[in-house]
Amino acid sequence: MRELVILGTASQVPTRTRNHNGYFLRWEREGILFDPGEGTQRQLIHAGVAASRITRICLTHVHGDHCFGLPGVLSRMVLDGVAHPVHLHYPASGEEVVRSLVSLATPGLDLRLHPHGAAGPIADGIDIERLRHRIEAFGYRVAEPDGRTFLPALLEKAGVGGPDVGRLARDGSLGKVRLEDVSVPRRGLRFAFVMDTAVCDGAYALAEGADLLVTESTFSDDDVRLAEQYLHLTAGQAGSIAASGSASALVLTHFSSRYDDVELLAAQARLTAGAATVVAASDLDRIPFPARRSNDGRAP
Ligand SMILES: [Zn+2]
Repeated sequence: MRELVILGTASQVPTRTRNHNGYFLRWEREGILFDPGEGTQRQLIHAGVAASRITRICLTHVHGDHCFGLPGVLSRMVLDGVAHPVHLHYPASGEEVVRSLVSLATPGLDLRLHPHGAAGPIADGIDIERLRHRIEAFGYRVAEPDGRTFLPALLEKAGVGGPDVGRLARDGSLGKVRLEDVSVPRRGLRFAFVMDTAVCDGAYALAEGADLLVTESTFSDDDVRLAEQYLHLTAGQAGSIAASGSASALVLTHFSSRYDDVELLAAQARLTAGAATVVAASDLDRIPFPARRSNDGRAP
């Protein structure tokens, strides 16, 4: 099961309809909480996500709207008796802030700190790219390993069925039948998370081949000067990033409180987003992964 639960969509200050940032990615057995701003604990309740589902917390940077919810969430996990390890990833330059926030939480959680300082892999299936913001920031990519999709007609022709299919997948061959004779490559799903940044190489790299791309879209294209000044993206820039990486779906979020209607931002992003579908996120949205790309799972 893979889906994205939107916990909050406001930058800097919350509004009556938008909580501070917060995103929960259900990724098979992992539950990854990104950038928990203030109020995330309560948003989890509204969204029907048990805090015990969290296995990993990823911070892009240590501005308050991306991490002030941390002590509350960690304390709640202790209260709920979470026994599994919880991995916390963050830029090493934010160590002091992170340790302060963690120190406020109720002790007792098996919390493992993983500071990072350079682009590359940080955990199994997760890697990061450097973003360009007023303080050090990194975006995240979560990728399913590439695999293979069996073609039933070819399996039948080869006389492979039942538990033999699993054996063939595991061992790569079964008698004279090779895995590649009865299957086609299947690209793993990719999720990418691009928060506070100006347009930069790291954002483009993260968008590359993303099935689901979340980007900040703090400003409207009309306010591009503000975006440049504070090192944020406009909606149109977010769309261009999605298009350049051939992302399938783009989710805009982290909106400035100056916009009552963010549909305007979604419309701007659609003009530049190429084939990507674009949605402006609302708090408590649940966003499923798009279907696997059409060439996957078919005979070449
Ligand atoms: Zn922010």
